[in-house]
Parts: sequence; structure tokens; C-alpha cells
Amino acid sequence: MALSPCQVCFVDTRKRCAACKTSHYCSSEHQRSDRRRHARECAVLAAGLDSQVEFPLKVKAVLFPVSGGKPRIIDVSYRLGHWPTTPNIPKHDLDLLPVLGDTRMALPVTIQRDGPKPSAPPLGHTLTLVHTLEYADEGRTRNRCIERIAPKGFPWRGNAVGFRNTPPAERIAQYDDVTEDDVRVFTKYFAEGGDGRNVLDADTQALLDAIPRGVDTVIF
Ligand SMILES: [Zn+2]
Ligand SMILES: [Zn+2]
Repeated sequence: MALSPCQVCFVDTRKRCAACKTSHYCSSEHQRSDRRRHARECAVLAAGLDSQVEFPLKVKAVLFPVSGGKPRIIDVSYRLGHWPTTPNIPKHDLDLLPVLGDTRMALPVTIQRDGPKPSAPPLGHTLTLVHTLEYADEGRTRNRCIERIAPKGFPWRGNAVGFRNTPPAERIAQYDDVTEDDVRVFTKYFAEGGDGRNVLDADTQALLDAIPRGVDTVIF
């Protein structure tokens, strides 16, 4: 049996999931830590990637809707693809058309620390903000959800969707469910995205007040 990278730490190993015989794990500890995420993909991996019809899987992301209201967690569909350098670690291809209304994406923004300074605590995972190519086009509707978070901030256009990526950070093609903490970091990103003198509404202020002192946000 050939060596393949562990799904969690990328150390080469011969041990693999007994059900799908695809995902490798160097130890039972790493297999356990990935169990919840892997559970939804195991059957697809066992049946083979060519068995997929359209986008059979779902991952949770946070939508900042152009039409306004609070950010909300939604399901985004995806399929498994081939990642040529590591065939046992599948690539995640997201179905972005229904959430963005457009797949001509601008470069995603990655957020890796919970603060603006390099000394801020690392998140331990990567967050990725995805938006359309026309996010700054004045002809498009302003995103009222982001506008509410930061009335004097950057005038984002169209929907914006936040994803959580599995570590290690340099491989951002795999996605995991966002948490409420991730929603807070994305909200903070928008709240601090303007001139630093944003007037925040009560809900956003309460969310930011809940963050321990000395912790800031940073964007890479
Ligand atoms: Zn490992
Ligand atoms: Zn499996």
C-alpha cells in the first residue's frame, strides 16, 4: 500500500479510513479529529468521484445578503474533485452560482488572525471571504447587510459569503462548516474595513464588546 499524506497533518502514512479506503490518517487521534467533517464525504469517496451527480455535498457558510438583514449561516453545495498533487485529499469545488448570482469571482480575501497586528492570536484555521467580481461596481446594489455593520465603511456590492477552511492554511481548497465565532470574525472584518471611525449599530457593538480585551482583527 502506497504512502499518502494524512488528511489532518500531511505526514505520509499507510493508514487509511477502512470505509472509503481513500482518506489517510497518521493516527487514530487525527482520524477522530476529522471524523465529523469526513463523515459527509466518506460515502462519496467510497463510491468514487465519478459517481457524483452535480453537487451532492453541503457545507455551512455565512451569507452577508445584499438585500439586508443579519448575516446568516447557509448551506453551500459542493462536489469532490481531483487535486493532482495529493490524489487522496480531494479538492472541494463549490457551487457558487446560486449564492453569488455570478461565478466571476474577485480574488478571495483570507483572514488568519483575530486582530490587526501580527501579534494577534492566530485563528488556527483560515477564513475566506468570497464575493463577485463586481463587488466595487457602482452600478450594482450596495450590500445592505454590510452597510448596516459599517455605515461608513467600504461600499461592498452584491452578496458576500464567508467560508472556513481546514488546516493547514496553505491548502485552502477544502472547506469545513463555519462556526458562530467565525461569523464574529467576518463581521469584525467588515466593521473595521472602513476609515476606523465607523458608527456601529447596537447589535454589532454588542457582538464586538463580547470579544476579550486585547484581541483585534487582522486581514492578510
Ligand atoms: Zn496526522
Ligand atoms: Zn472514509
